[in-house]
Amino acid sequence: MNVSGESKPLVYDLTYEDWEAWVQNQGQPRYRARQIWEGLYKHLWHRPEDFSTLPKALREALARDFTFSHLTPVKERQSRDGETHKTLFHLPDGAAVETVRMRYVRRRTLCISTQAGCAMGCVFCATGQLGLLRHLTPGEIVEQVLYYARKLRAQGDRVTNIVVMGMGEPLHNYAATLQAMDTLNDPRGFGLGARRITISTVGLAPKIRQLAREGKQYNLAVSLHAADDDLRSALIPVARRYPLADLFDACRAYFQATRRRITFEWTMIRDVNDSPQQAERLARWIREYGLVAHVNVIPLNPTPGYEGRPSPRQRIEAFAAVLEAHGIPCTVRVRRGIDIQAGCGQLAGERLERGKMALHVATGKRVGGRA
Ligand code: SAH
Ligand code: SF4
Repeated sequence: MNVSGESKPLVYDLTYEDWEAWVQNQGQPRYRARQIWEGLYKHLWHRPEDFSTLPKALREALARDFTFSHLTPVKERQSRDGETHKTLFHLPDGAAVETVRMRYVRRRTLCISTQAGCAMGCVFCATGQLGLLRHLTPGEIVEQVLYYARKLRAQGDRVTNIVVMGMGEPLHNYAATLQAMDTLNDPRGFGLGARRITISTVGLAPKIRQLAREGKQYNLAVSLHAADDDLRSALIPVARRYPLADLFDACRAYFQATRRRITFEWTMIRDVNDSPQQAERLARWIREYGLVAHVNVIPLNPTPGYEGRPSPRQRIEAFAAVLEAHGIPCTVRVRRGIDIQAGCGQLAGERLERGKMALHVATGKRVGGRA
């Protein structure tokens, strides 16, 4: 039984090795696994009858043993400028998740979800305000990407980047997230480079250390929002369990293992965490732990359950200038796609769909610092 209550597994939940075992159980040679994998992830086939490379009996066995979709798109929204697109999906058990596609000059970036809701309870986040409904399976994470990959392919385009920054805390659903990323990264199929995938975490230090040991080149983004433990814990309840010294130690382990520059995310909340002193302390942490880092500063997107306001522009620029003075590159994310509700921290499935929330979608504007 899978989480949806259906008895048939979702095709995207299987690893390559699972397919090898399945085809051998069907009395078929192992190379059939390769053909199924290519069908799913290169050709983007999503019906058993599409698998023209397979003998009829095997196509029938696929139809008999598996389901090909868990995600039903129930609502799609496109920003007026067409640059941002969001889909609300229903899962078989009634849970809902959202996926966002952002179009930049050269990039087609998907922002995907790993949980329906989130258990971390960050006070400013609409997903956190929902609580955790359930984890997604690896296949449900992968299917979000394939859904948009098919749409883009129909336009002669493709997915170039994935950010795991939608609903949920990816490292709280560690195994499923990692399997999903490994599936999408696998060069035998979808083949999206690991360096084009960014996993964003609220900062679960032990899981960051575990990720460091995987030997993968995924980018790590850490949602920091504060440079002292008291303030951080007030914004992010789970931060009480992982003080900044522990978190930065884990970041150092990730940096040393991967040599990948780490991104720190900072949601700017007026008069809460936007002082130049906070920027100074952040710079000190980064230097003390010997990290090569980049800071993304994002004005708060208002959500129904939090009374904080976004920082004014001057305050954001002053914050960025401090980091810049320390040689730490900083990007201020500016509002985009205000007409659909797809901004950071605003994904809430349909429960809050009808709520009136302002919206930003991150878009890069570099304000200086090292390249
Ligand atoms: N759980 C992960 C990834 C999903 S949240 C994490 O927390 O990193 C993606 C990003 O949106 C995080 O940096 C998060 O702090 C930020 N965010 C959440 N609510 C926000 C809001 N209301 N305004 C701006 N950014 C927000
Ligand atoms: Fe969860 Fe991230 Fe939202 Fe915090 S910011 S509640 S970790 S989705």
